[in-house]
Amino acid sequence: MSSLVDDARSLENFLSHHRRVVVLTGAGISASSGIPTYRDAGGHWRASAPIKHQEFLTDPARRRRYWARSVAGWPAVRDARPNLGHFALARLERAQRIELLITQNVDRLHQRAGSRRVIDLHGRLDRVRCLDCGTLRSRNSVQRLLDPTDLATMGHPRDTLPDGDASISAVQVDQLHVPGCAHCGGILMPDVVFFGGTVPRERVAACKEAVLHSDALLAVGTSLQVYSGFRFCRLAAELDKPLAIINPGTTRADSLARLKLSSDCGPLLSRVADRLDPC
Ligand SMILES: [Zn+2]
Repeated sequence: MSSLVDDARSLENFLSHHRRVVVLTGAGISASSGIPTYRDAGGHWRASAPIKHQEFLTDPARRRRYWARSVAGWPAVRDARPNLGHFALARLERAQRIELLITQNVDRLHQRAGSRRVIDLHGRLDRVRCLDCGTLRSRNSVQRLLDPTDLATMGHPRDTLPDGDASISAVQVDQLHVPGCAHCGGILMPDVVFFGGTVPRERVAACKEAVLHSDALLAVGTSLQVYSGFRFCRLAAELDKPLAIINPGTTRADSLARLKLSSDCGPLLSRVADRLDPC
């Protein structure tokens, strides 16, 4: 088992040799902000599997259940605060150590920590999109429309999933009125890519472009089970760009990595940021 000191030395060495780094983050970096990961260290689902894109589109009952659970789950995401790991990555960007941060998280904690060059690969939970006319509105405004029975106070934040889903009873689901789009009456959906959904092509292209012009890729807090993130590791390998991974459990890209570190990413990144950005 490697120590934090050893891992920090290895990561500092990696970043010193590769100045144009693209970072890819996953749920592991937001875990200590109170947003749990979907999978445990062995890659197994912690709770019930999250809603799939097709289910949301085609099944009104499932959609209603999503929103009911989301009313209870959203406050935990809305009120979460960035942690050591988010702040350390923001500092490394300011120290010109990071070219681009690609995150699979939808919680916006990187931006709130001060990172500027961020691509929200799977979208952002603080916005809602009309599937018919594309109008965007804030998740908070939808929360007010969704909340006639005060579901938010009856939820169980400890059961909240990274996409703002939370456990809730069937009675609570039945009480919920799901609003449509204020402009066209269309179906509202969180502005996120659910499992089984497609990441917009131009967003993927921007990420690939950054990897193409980078010296290395650093994956943090992700098991890389989802192809939309894994593909950048594979691209880096094809381009012979070194890949480093910080994750306590096994990942889908372990065999592609030049460096694999298992320390807790918050303290590890913070320690390295202290060394590389001492001011
Ligand atoms: Zn609309």
